[in-house]
Amino acid sequence: MRDIKMVDLKGQYDKIKPEVDRAIDEVIASTVFINGPAVKNFAINLGKYMDVKHVIPCGNGTDALQVALMSLDLEPGDEVITSTFTFIATAEVIALLNLKPVLVDVDPDTFNIDTEKVEEAVSERTKVIIPVHLFGQASDMDRIMHIADKHELKVIEDTCQSIGAEFYSLRNTEEVNKVGTIGDMGCMSFFPSKNLGAFGDAGAIFTNDDKLADKLRAIVNHGSFKKYYHDYVGVNSRLDSIQAAVLDVKLKYLDEYINARQTAAVYYDKHLGDYTKIKIPARTAYSTHVFHQYTITLDQSIDRVNMQKYLKDNGIPSMVYYPVPLHLQKAYRHDGKTKGTMPVAENLSGQVLSLPMHTELDEEQLHHICSKVIEFLHK
Ligand SMILES: *Cc1c(COP(=O)(O)O)cnc(C)c1O
Repeated sequence: MRDIKMVDLKGQYDKIKPEVDRAIDEVIASTVFINGPAVKNFAINLGKYMDVKHVIPCGNGTDALQVALMSLDLEPGDEVITSTFTFIATAEVIALLNLKPVLVDVDPDTFNIDTEKVEEAVSERTKVIIPVHLFGQASDMDRIMHIADKHELKVIEDTCQSIGAEFYSLRNTEEVNKVGTIGDMGCMSFFPSKNLGAFGDAGAIFTNDDKLADKLRAIVNHGSFKKYYHDYVGVNSRLDSIQAAVLDVKLKYLDEYINARQTAAVYYDKHLGDYTKIKIPARTAYSTHVFHQYTITLDQSIDRVNMQKYLKDNGIPSMVYYPVPLHLQKAYRHDGKTKGTMPVAENLSGQVLSLPMHTELDEEQLHHICSKVIEFLHK
């Protein structure tokens, strides 16, 4: 059996190596390393894939979130509602811009933001909601867009983990949209281990709004429409031509990659679904799941540290995403949301476990993982 990895970037690369290497060589030969044709081509192809009007490439997913917030003319102290159970970047950019992150609890089944808690958290100063489509599945965008409409809030989707996931509006049964194209803006990361991974840092912002798109393009380029004339305070956040060339090749395989992840997930479901001491990831009626992570929830009676050790001793890596919810992080503790205020996320952080999930898992590996998980449950 091949070694089991949490993410197998090498295996994925080996399958398309000639094509990727050629694309990289072309950029090197052209020496147009910044804003070259590869960047434009990738933005066009990604726009088609996402079915969105504008793709603004940028340096990484964190920048995408920061620039999206910068485009909204917010005042210091304005409130931005987001999930307490996410990667730190989502809240970090809010704090960095002197805005106030208002963290709310999540749904225990989907790990995504609890929309009732969102509604309760809306105040006079709320300006934005950032739903995070965690682990590969959409947040309840019908509810979120409804709350946003009612209170005139902007919506920035953190789509960093969920490229390609589809949201089925239950309000309008005709409508199917890729996540990241439903709110005012969507923010994407192409960090190497994400579902569409570059060979370094990379990101993008999506929008269907022409005016916002212009402004976003200026902000990522030092706030400038015309060289040496600066209309906004901006940043330098660019997608490298080499990264764009790699991503443009991999984009063609994205649906295949999603399929491979879903196939692995179905295998896990089938073999782990009957054990009451673990809960397999829930699926919602309104979203497909692209399985950035396959995250199980352990019963209180299971010692997660022991379980991880047992799996590790049997050649199986596992990870905890995330061990501490954001409201309990040292840097974000100041707004009085102490332990006990967001019980769902607090419990999840003690009980979730993500199993190996990537495009190169084979049945022998999946069989080994499942049998060792089951063996541990019987100990
Ligand atoms: C990865 C990730 C980010 C940040 O993306 P980078 O490209 O690493 O800056 C933001 N939010 C979520 C939910 C992520 O998973």
